[in-house]
Amino acid sequence: MLELFLSIYLGIGFLLVAVGPVPERIAREVKDARGTLLSNFVLKREQPSEVKLLFFRIAISIGFIILWPFFTWGIIKDHKDRNTVSDNLKEKSNGLWFSYMGGHGTVICQDCDHSEEVTSFIHGFDASSSGFQCQGCGKFSSITSEELAKANQLPKNLLCECGGNLEREKVIFCPNCESKNLIYEMQYIT
Ligand SMILES: [Zn+2]
Ligand SMILES: [Zn+2]
Repeated sequence: MLELFLSIYLGIGFLLVAVGPVPERIAREVKDARGTLLSNFVLKREQPSEVKLLFFRIAISIGFIILWPFFTWGIIKDHKDRNTVSDNLKEKSNGLWFSYMGGHGTVICQDCDHSEEVTSFIHGFDASSSGFQCQGCGKFSSITSEELAKANQLPKNLLCECGGNLEREKVIFCPNCESKNLIYEMQYIT
């Protein structure tokens, strides 16, 4: 009975080491242990030999097979976190965002040639203006910090005339054709 339990237990361990996020994680540990030319230089250490690294990999794998219930959850969670982070980065690197546009300029759609002047963020004498886009009709508007302070007390004020939500933290889309393939040409910044 104990033998059966042990073989099932170790079988699951072997399976986890063979597929899914666990082998990925082990590969990363080995890579970290190998270091880079630069990190080895900075830490003034020799690059560990491939034989040592192989033992290291075997040791982690065996350790995992024996103790898998303790590691699995953490590794899966870590794996999920990494994927979400890289998804967010991917999304951020595509398209045009108010937070990466300076001043006042023109947004030009690469698909339908629609162009429109937009204020992303400018400082005035005693107030600043921030750009927003209606998520319903695509209309751009700029709102001063004073208006924004008022709107914070009454969040419903951050609505477009059409009833859509005004957003600043969303990727900008063409008001004409809804394409996200846009470029921004800055005219001035204050
Ligand atoms: Zn609208
Ligand atoms: Zn367009």
